[in-house]
Amino acid sequence: MNEKDITELTELLATPKKIAIIPHRSPDGDAMGSTLGLYHFLLKLNHQPVVISPNNFPNFLDWLPASETVLVYENEKDKVAKILNEQEIIFTLDFNALHRTGEMENVLNKLTAPMVMIDHHQLPDTYAKYTYSDTGFGSTCEMVYNFIGFLNQKTLIDKTIATCLYTGILTDSGGFRYPKTTGTTHRIAAEFIDLEIDNSEIPTLLFDNNSYDRLQLLGRALQNMKVIPELKTAYISLSQQELDEFNYVKGDTEGIVNYGLTIKGIVFAAIFIENRDEKIVKISFRSQGTFDVNQFAREHFSGGGHINAAGGKSEDTLTNTIKKFETIISKITI
Ligand code: 5GP
Ligand code: MN
Repeated sequence: MNEKDITELTELLATPKKIAIIPHRSPDGDAMGSTLGLYHFLLKLNHQPVVISPNNFPNFLDWLPASETVLVYENEKDKVAKILNEQEIIFTLDFNALHRTGEMENVLNKLTAPMVMIDHHQLPDTYAKYTYSDTGFGSTCEMVYNFIGFLNQKTLIDKTIATCLYTGILTDSGGFRYPKTTGTTHRIAAEFIDLEIDNSEIPTLLFDNNSYDRLQLLGRALQNMKVIPELKTAYISLSQQELDEFNYVKGDTEGIVNYGLTIKGIVFAAIFIENRDEKIVKISFRSQGTFDVNQFAREHFSGGGHINAAGGKSEDTLTNTIKKFETIISKITI
């Protein structure tokens, strides 16, 4: 973020404002942690912030401080659209293209309030007046920490803000494992621990939140896994019928795609999840090393993300989507 933007934003934030903070659709730990972290920070700066999620967030994040205040656009569209129109600044966090908010994009496109993007995905769109976009960071939460620093307000970071930001740092780094985890990431985490965040309880809440049904669903997913050693690829499929069988709730399939990469020699993993309501197959891609799944998702499955973690979708059937996938990978070098 350049000096001019920082100066202008400092001025904008010098007097109390109505501020909306928006994560991407189907928000994950980083999207919810960064938006709520910024929410608590802006509250301390005497603003009137509100976090507006395009759709419901998963239950495993419902312990995040102030998650009960989050408004969900898809649950009360008219009311939330009206509130959005009253805002003086719009922060968009953990995404870089307005279509990532789903149908809410139509409302956002018409707003005149200045937008601020804080995000770490590739190829940002140009909708924001102020853009802090850097793919070098492992999480948007780490960038929100820096953003607070740009405003010279690090002393305002308290246990509540730190708890939110630690959440996204932890989830988006796979527990400090992924390559973008730096010494600085750990130093920030250390600062948060000094602020007495519960660094033992937070990972438990995030990662050990299984229901019996979820474990059974995981079992089915692992049994469905297909491994193609010569293409260094493993993929999983879950049909809507299988999700129903195990009483699927939002969040239950989180992280399952990663199991493919735990097999020796596998560098490309995918999961295909049928969604009957939305009439799509939602796809997650993960890779290890140089195989760029962001590019793969953009090129073939209307998606995007990062080099090693991306997502996309297909409007075809589950079977046809997987056939298409198999055809594509048989023709490329992985
Ligand atoms: P996940 O597979 O966990 O849903 O997402 C992995 C990464 O890819 C996340 O950073 C997410 O924001 C991004 N991503 C997931 N689905 C999509 C999509 O449909 N479009 C784009 N552009 N990015 C996606
Ligand atoms: Mn993120």
